[in-house]
Amino acid sequence: MKAALQMKGNVARSVNPYGIRQEVLNEINYVKAQGSYEGPKKVLIIGGSSSYGLSSRISSAFGAGADTIAVSFERGPKTETNIGTAGWYNNIFFREFAEEAGLVAKNFVGDAFSLAMKQQVITYIQKEFGGKIDLLVYSLASGVRVDPMGKKWFSSLNPIGQDVTGENINLETEEIFEQTVHAATPEEVEGTVKVMGGEDWEWWVNLLKEAGVLADNFKTVLYSYIGPKMTHAFYHGGALGRAKDQTEESAVRINENIQDIAGKATIIVARAVTTKASVVIPILPKYLIALYKLEENHESPIMHIDRTYRTMLYGDQANYDEKGRMRPDSFELEPTLQAKVEALFNEITAENFKTDIAAYDLFRKEFLNLNGFEVEGNTVDEFEFDDLLTLKP
Ligand code: NAD
Repeated sequence: MKAALQMKGNVARSVNPYGIRQEVLNEINYVKAQGSYEGPKKVLIIGGSSSYGLSSRISSAFGAGADTIAVSFERGPKTETNIGTAGWYNNIFFREFAEEAGLVAKNFVGDAFSLAMKQQVITYIQKEFGGKIDLLVYSLASGVRVDPMGKKWFSSLNPIGQDVTGENINLETEEIFEQTVHAATPEEVEGTVKVMGGEDWEWWVNLLKEAGVLADNFKTVLYSYIGPKMTHAFYHGGALGRAKDQTEESAVRINENIQDIAGKATIIVARAVTTKASVVIPILPKYLIALYKLEENHESPIMHIDRTYRTMLYGDQANYDEKGRMRPDSFELEPTLQAKVEALFNEITAENFKTDIAAYDLFRKEFLNLNGFEVEGNTVDEFEFDDLLTLKP
């Protein structure tokens, strides 16, 4: 069968499995080309199947030689027209490449918010992983969470206090459209904090610690976003921003809890990148095509995370803000760059956004690459459905 792109708005409905394999390989080769670094050795990544979580896994494994466990929520192939999600194939091909390199790579597919998943992972670490965890990466992006009491919460991408109107890009129709996002209700804000805040991160650390599977000098990180003022109305100042603020309280509690093992929890404020989660954030895509056009050091997730790990988290060049958050996003927020981005953002229109004035082509290519399309070096766009069924996570 031939892999063909199908989209609904800014969500991909199809994937190109062997394009995904090549993309994973390209990212591994990127990390290898930077050389090795002294980093983590036993890593657990919650949300490890795509973008920032997958990049954390690739950098740890192929930069620092780490064994890795990833937990993710993905779907495998069901029918010829429903062959599963990109993350499903990222997990499989990452594991294959890591095992070829002599590394342990274990994939758990299921609900990371659940107690059952936490217990399965802990049992695996105790019985099979061959050592305690020295890095826990919490990189979930989800619209829904069932909490320990069985209550279902939904996260929202809405602003707080006022409706916000702005322009967004529809990747399916390739059009700019005006979008009004209504102000979140208090319940929507509460739900977003429950899903995207730090409560579940704390729970993971508590259970891992109680089970005695955290190494001395253990580190844990959670990725946050702040962005420039022009994005605050719909992101940092919105429901998602409120959830990210709450993660800072969680980090304080985690730090108290892991003091006795000389552990450290850090919020990493990461840069804006093209991912499955970010392209559905209202208005953000238009900001991204302006930013990508003007920045000198454009970074994809693998470039950003690999730099952050080797020079900051495990290097000596980390910069922290007054709240103790690590700030690799400083390149994105550089004031001269941001002044130019804001001016360009205001010049981009429905008529000109695909021209050279902005970086729409790069944005679209990065989006397609996430799903295995238009991947550099890939020559295989065909697949046999039965072959996909033999690939095991
Ligand atoms: P993504 O959608 O590419 O990845 C999300 C991961 O979470 C996937 O591995 C998915 O399988 C997993 N997941 C979702 N629900 C799950 C569940 N119930 N159980 C197990 N796994 C589940 O997202 P991303 O853009 O890489 O975002 C990761 C984190 O980085 C988020 O916290 C996000 O806010 C943050 N961040 C993103 C950006 C950006 O521009 N994309 C910038 C800064 C920070």
